Amino acid sequence: SRILVTGANGFLGAHIVKEALDSGYIVRGTVRSAQKAEELKKIFNSDKFETAIVPDLITSDYTEALKDVTAVIHSASPFAFGVSDPKKDFLDPAIDGTLNVLRAAHAAGIKRILVTSTVGTVLSKPELMSVDTTYGADDWLFVTYDQAASGTLPGFVVYLASKKYAELAAWDFAKEHPDINLTVLNPTVIYGPVIHPISSLKSLNASNLAIYSLINGSKVIPPDSVPVFCDVVSSAQVHVKALESKETYGKRVIFTKGPGTMYQILQIIHKARPDLADRLPALPEADPLAGKPLSKFDTSIATDVLGVKGLDLEETVLSTVDSLLELEKKL
Ligand code: NDP
Repeated sequence: SRILVTGANGFLGAHIVKEALDSGYIVRGTVRSAQKAEELKKIFNSDKFETAIVPDLITSDYTEALKDVTAVIHSASPFAFGVSDPKKDFLDPAIDGTLNVLRAAHAAGIKRILVTSTVGTVLSKPELMSVDTTYGADDWLFVTYDQAASGTLPGFVVYLASKKYAELAAWDFAKEHPDINLTVLNPTVIYGPVIHPISSLKSLNASNLAIYSLINGSKVIPPDSVPVFCDVVSSAQVHVKALESKETYGKRVIFTKGPGTMYQILQIIHKARPDLADRLPALPEADPLAGKPLSKFDTSIATDVLGVKGLDLEETVLSTVDSLLELEKKL
């Protein structure tokens, strides 16, 4: 059967496409321009991969893109650390972009819809991750829409709020249209090899950028905002396995492998890639997060129902580093 993946040229989107193709689906990926479509077709080089051009998440018409599609994975959403206009940069494309594709899918009679959210939407306590608790599907990010729109919060928090309100819009829509089987995926920070087209390491996706900034010679250790991780291939598998899993209907599927602090990541790189030593920041004496509380997450649907365990931190970090070094040579 044929599925539509939005944001197919993104870091995670491209891995979802690959995983779905490998699982036997015909995949149509949306991108914003004809040029991006051509770049992506070259990467997958498969007659099972098609593209559709959706220039604007909020206003574009999906009629053509949804033709002969049986399920939709909506993964396109702005993800960056900076913000100038909270509504325009994050809230509107996330929320109205989700509603636009949901309405079009429903009008086209499509019943199976997956939306990529983030684990950030379950951080219900203001301490975020620095609190001894286990977050689960009943938790919701404490930040309100008005706070996010006010222009006073850091970009990362506005991003998380955009995902929260996009998710809530999707759940409301599914409640109004009970024939829709909605599943939401809530992965933690995702690292891993880059397979999507990028023209420069400056345009690297936001999460891998943290690892790149450790190895690019700037000798700066990025802050630990949400120090839990998962690898991109497993995260894509969670999406594709959920497609056929009735047990995930109406569920939020949280996915993480566990803690991954900047200190732990740097330690792994120092140990396994000594040739990079002169580019790396020195390892601090201790992990600033050691001995502090670090929240846990209920990942039972991803691990027990879908059977995706995730790669460990070392394998995830080193495959990311190797991929970024390859890109450095190529670009
Ligand atoms: P990328 O930035 O690599 O990909 C984002 C995708 O969304 C791209 O295809 C991009 O298209 C598209 N997109 C972004 N903004 C817009 C917009 N305003 N209009 C149209 N398309 C847009 O990010 P990721 O792969 O990391 O993120 C993919 C999804 O996964 C997002 O929903 C994100 O919230 C979620 N996620 C990511 C995590 C991570 O650590 N990476 C963790 C948890 C969730 P274009 O290339 O044209 O800009």
